[in-house]
Amino acid sequence: MTSTGSDRQAILVLNAGSSSIKFCVFGLGGDRTLQRDVRGQVSGLHTAARFAMRRDDVVIAEHALADGPLPHAVALERALVEIEAQMGGARIVGVGHRVVHGGLEFMAPTRLNAEVLTRLERYVPLAPLHQPHNLAAIRVMLERLPGMPAIACFDTAFHRSIPEVAQLFALPPRFAQAGIRRYGFHGLSYEYIASRLHTVDERAAAGRTVVCHLGNGASMCAMAGGHSVATTMGFTAVEGLPMGTRCGSLDPGVLLFMMDELALSPREIEQLIYHESGLYGMSGISNDVRDLLASTAPAAATALDVFVYRAARELGSLAAALGGLDAVVFTAGIGENQPQIRARICHAAEWLGLELDEPANARHGPRISTSQSRVAAYVVPTDEESMIARHVQGMLTAPL
Ligand code: ADP
Repeated sequence: MTSTGSDRQAILVLNAGSSSIKFCVFGLGGDRTLQRDVRGQVSGLHTAARFAMRRDDVVIAEHALADGPLPHAVALERALVEIEAQMGGARIVGVGHRVVHGGLEFMAPTRLNAEVLTRLERYVPLAPLHQPHNLAAIRVMLERLPGMPAIACFDTAFHRSIPEVAQLFALPPRFAQAGIRRYGFHGLSYEYIASRLHTVDERAAAGRTVVCHLGNGASMCAMAGGHSVATTMGFTAVEGLPMGTRCGSLDPGVLLFMMDELALSPREIEQLIYHESGLYGMSGISNDVRDLLASTAPAAATALDVFVYRAARELGSLAAALGGLDAVVFTAGIGENQPQIRARICHAAEWLGLELDEPANARHGPRISTSQSRVAAYVVPTDEESMIARHVQGMLTAPL
């Protein structure tokens, strides 16, 4: 934000996790366009809290917030002071909160108040590692800025178009009634990609497209006409693909064996499947694909082999859910930046009619399939924060 004056308006986007709180400020232009201003995070909330903030990829603040751990509420308070000091007099007119779980109930962004917050607390048991932190940030903001429009944007909402048959586990109905079903996550990323698809390829926007959100968390989504019809994550964000530290789909019998024969407690299993598995657990080296590609250790290669193999299998499964395939889109940290991984997944999808354009893939596309490829492939950067900001802007301008 370069101009001055208190008439300038801004939207604050918050993504509060277990060990960090990420934020992003968007300026609202006179023509109602959103301009990304500062972004940053408070990290190390359990160890030694640090604050970092950037503008246009230039670091404008980076320092310790405490010598040790810091409660989320205190960290957020301190971050707000620093953010406001950087806003050059612009006024925050709305806050967007990323909320991981909206159950079946919250199918769209929702204005927050005490009553909605109480309803959202019901989903804490469904996402115990994320939801409590999301809600803690909301509570702080509602107290600190009462009356300020605050909007919850859900990672599950985009997937509410998934047909019942794809949501149900093969369990007695009482379990589905108790909320045990596939919800799907990364919905804000998929919604953003869906909103961009028509600018990339009209056929992909109108047709059958699989979007591969391959980041530290990873999932894939089958879209028909831009609507989610199936996704790899299910009841929790641990199902589906192997991820940076999460194992992905696991035979439920493995969990029983771990409890009965290896005497692991539920909490130990939670730690294992969320934090000590995936690329990190398999390699014993790193959760970061860059480190694994640079390593000569056989376990690093095995971890990547399993990741690519599972992604290729899921792509086939999602194509089956769609009844065919018109396009594949790669996004998030790995999807946007790692041509080797994209190439390996695309080669494994040749049977589906995908022909990779190697030079285009090396320069990150955006189109990475050949002109004669029956299935088109693209790299499209995701932007969950701007998706949230757009929702806040939409709610601010919507008639009451
Ligand atoms: P998150 O799920 O935390 O949002 P990201 O989408 O930011 O994750 O993806 C982070 C992951 O992307 C890293 O762990 C790493 O494996 C991978 N990656 C590969 N190349 C890059 C790159 N050039 N920049 C950032 N991340 C990269």
